[in-house]
Amino acid sequence: MNARLIDGKKHAASLRAQLAAQVDALAARGIHPGLAVIIVGDHPASRAYVRNKLAACAETGVRSTKIELAEQVTQRALLDEIAALNHNPAVHGILVQLPLPAHIDAQAVLEAIAPSKDVDGFHASSAGALLQGRPGFVPCTPAGVMYLLAQEGIALAGQHAVVLGRSNVVGKPLALLLLQNDATVTICHSRTKDLATEARRADILIAAVGRAGLVRAEMVKPGACVIDVGINRNAAGQLVGDVDFDAVCQVAGSITPVPGGVGPMTVAMLVANTLRAAQA
Ligand code: NAP
Repeated sequence: MNARLIDGKKHAASLRAQLAAQVDALAARGIHPGLAVIIVGDHPASRAYVRNKLAACAETGVRSTKIELAEQVTQRALLDEIAALNHNPAVHGILVQLPLPAHIDAQAVLEAIAPSKDVDGFHASSAGALLQGRPGFVPCTPAGVMYLLAQEGIALAGQHAVVLGRSNVVGKPLALLLLQNDATVTICHSRTKDLATEARRADILIAAVGRAGLVRAEMVKPGACVIDVGINRNAAGQLVGDVDFDAVCQVAGSITPVPGGVGPMTVAMLVANTLRAAQA
């Protein structure tokens, strides 16, 4: 292995320790940051993500509430739940775990969250603020990637960043953040003509697609920084990213592993956003 490993687990643990100190300081002033997490149905991956988020809250002293709703819950009942949380002064952040069942309009649900409590950063007003470079909640995964790049001293100004994936949750907000930090950004997606050629131009290559083995060694510029956001199960049932890790390690300058890369940062950033909401 030649590439330097970017240890997201280590960075996330150190960030959580800093956040815990800030939560303590706020509590000393009588403010106890609170997060409400709504989970609908019985999606095993969603349950695991929620468990991790609540564990990070517990570790940092953020008060959390889990609201479990049945798969068959009506959109009206879910919106009523959010309205109550919007008015609850003990709740500073509200997160609705995605995906939601098909009979619910996820965007309408996300838009119902008060922008001041939108710690996932998925509300249109948060997305608009990010687009315009104004203060607002930044989605946790892109924020976590930016934190890792900063901690690792990866220069962005003038560098070519290539983002694979254009979702509202990861690809698009990440591209905007990289642009704000003076990178030259290319966004690729399922209709990109020659993904390998685009990827090979990257000084910073970010894979956020959801396909195991998509990024092969020959798609990586020697010395590039490779950030793997993808979460997939391989044929053996193991958790893997979008990057062919062992092969790409021989070419890249630095790389995040899966698990232990971006995932833990996403969770730490949720705590950071909740703390910020409580400080406002
Ligand atoms: P998504 O909404 O499914 O978006 C996937 C993106 O990849 C789309 O823009 C799609 O293009 C593009 N794509 C699909 N096939 C492609 C191909 N062959 N070549 C190039 N682009 C292709 O997924 P997401 O929510 O952004 O998540 C992406 C991955 O990150 C998933 O594995 C997810 O589990 C993971 N994730 C991880 C974390 C974390 O904390 N580590 C957090 C969130 C998500 P089109 O737009 O053209 O369809």
